[in-house]
Amino acid sequence: MQLAADLHLHSRYARAVSPEMTLPNLLRWAQIKGLDALSTGDCLHGPWLREIEGHLSPGNDGLLHPSSELLTASRQNLPEHLHRSVRFVLGTEVSCGARSTDDPRGIHVLIYLPDFAAVHALRASLTAFSDLDGEKQGRPALLLSPRDVLQRSLAIPGAHFSPAHVFNSFVSLLNAVDGHTRVTDAFGDLTSELLGLEAALTSTPAHCRRLSQLDRHALLANSDAHSLPKLGRECSLFETPTESDFTYDSLFSAINRRKKSPVRLVGTEEYPVTFARYWLNWCSHCQQAHDAPAHGTCPVCRKTKLVLGARDRLAQLADRDAPARHLPFVERLPLLQLLTTLAGRAEPNDEITRLYHALIGNLGAERTILNETEPEAIARASFPALADAIIAQRAGRLDFAALRHRPAPPVPSADQLPLF
Ligand SMILES: [Zn+2]
Ligand SMILES: [Zn+2]
Repeated sequence: MQLAADLHLHSRYARAVSPEMTLPNLLRWAQIKGLDALSTGDCLHGPWLREIEGHLSPGNDGLLHPSSELLTASRQNLPEHLHRSVRFVLGTEVSCGARSTDDPRGIHVLIYLPDFAAVHALRASLTAFSDLDGEKQGRPALLLSPRDVLQRSLAIPGAHFSPAHVFNSFVSLLNAVDGHTRVTDAFGDLTSELLGLEAALTSTPAHCRRLSQLDRHALLANSDAHSLPKLGRECSLFETPTESDFTYDSLFSAINRRKKSPVRLVGTEEYPVTFARYWLNWCSHCQQAHDAPAHGTCPVCRKTKLVLGARDRLAQLADRDAPARHLPFVERLPLLQLLTTLAGRAEPNDEITRLYHALIGNLGAERTILNETEPEAIARASFPALADAIIAQRAGRLDFAALRHRPAPPVPSADQLPLF
């Protein structure tokens, strides 16, 4: 059987995160989306950790399971066919190399921990270098280099460590502003201890496998969600003989392949790179990406030099014309964003949001609709252009750029659709 895991998200205690990112809501939306495992996010943050400890408890599989109270809260008015068992992994993102504890710059990395004792041990190890319980410090800024944080994480048995969104233009390991050109420049002899690399949002496995220096690293896809509808916009897929074979140890051994595991990482679902904020070169003045060379000034405001986006950074660092072998992946827009884009809008309105929930209620979890539901059933429950777009993106032939500029097809209102 296949399980989908999203191992990078944030709680409402991190900067620029929706107040709706609470435990009951995360659990509810994992079921709406069709996700089987989630990171808790922000597990080093004291107030969030207390909520996690109060509502999630460790099982024999080394993963955390929701209390019956939390499960009930997450399933209020949720159709029964969406109910699914979701487990959590203690995880966090931290920002390394900060100059002060509210420095927004730094290199982002992900850390996973096997149990609450490990979380408290890492908190004790890092507390002198950060403001772990500060307001909006769910992703703490650490006055330590990425290598120092890796070393402190490795001192905790069972901990795993992976650089996050490695081609993000500003806060990633391989960014062009203050990042590195090689993974080994940051981690030296400890490079082999990395769990893998998160290639989220700004790159796909096909991009990353053009860099031979990344061959030794597994590639992870996660959503980095700051709001509920973005949960699972990227996720990693695992094949497991049975549900009970999927444990903390077998999950991470499937990724880093240091130990034999009954579980295998078999592919990823990816957000289209052309929709990622930092794919093209970025103007910090306009706060917008432009399809223009990074060495010149911004063609629109002419006020500042553009920052290298992922597309050009990848081309700069790639040493192969064609990618080496990689796991299968599919690029697809989340259903709400697909509906919004097809309706010719930038943001969903109430009508589109109601239509989204009507489709989930009628057809099943979002990943089921995007990956499996028969096109006829989608067209019957919505409108033919949605079925066409979903089929095209399953086959990897949806032209995402054209989709943005296409005249909007009529989107039926949710009142016209059969409701669950
Ligand atoms: Zn980040
Ligand atoms: Zn500009």
